[in-house]
Amino acid sequence: MKIHLRQIPQGSTIHLEADVDPAFLELGPDDAEAISPVHCALDVGLSDNGLFATGSLSLRIRQTCVKCLRPFETTLVVGDFGTQVDLVGCESVDLTAQIREDILLVLPSHPRCDDDGSTKCPATFQSAPAAPLIEEVDHSTWDALDQIKPKK
Ligand SMILES: [Zn+2]
Repeated sequence: MKIHLRQIPQGSTIHLEADVDPAFLELGPDDAEAISPVHCALDVGLSDNGLFATGSLSLRIRQTCVKCLRPFETTLVVGDFGTQVDLVGCESVDLTAQIREDILLVLPSHPRCDDDGSTKCPATFQSAPAAPLIEEVDHSTWDALDQIKPKK
């Protein structure tokens, strides 16, 4: 995402939104598959010697659950993106590297299909110890209880 410095009003910030082709993330086949553009919503301003940007990033990705091995889709969100770039006489600033870095930070390395709470991972049930439906009755215990019951 490139920001032209002329866009930014002096002494104030500008709100920029853009949908960027996710190819720049260079996700490997084992990481995740980006299935939407990267949505960037940034407030950009100029400080004394640099440019600062804060805001949020999001994209839809498809990953494979490490538990049940099903592919699933989820939304990856960087809610508190923030960066500062020194200005060295250029007319525009490219935030691509910073955006990529922050998205890779929130990319789960052990993705679970139930991470976002919208679904239940079927493997969770299979791995849980099966509770017996009927508890086995120890007859000797009942016999002992019978013996201490007050007799009529
Ligand atoms: Zn799963």
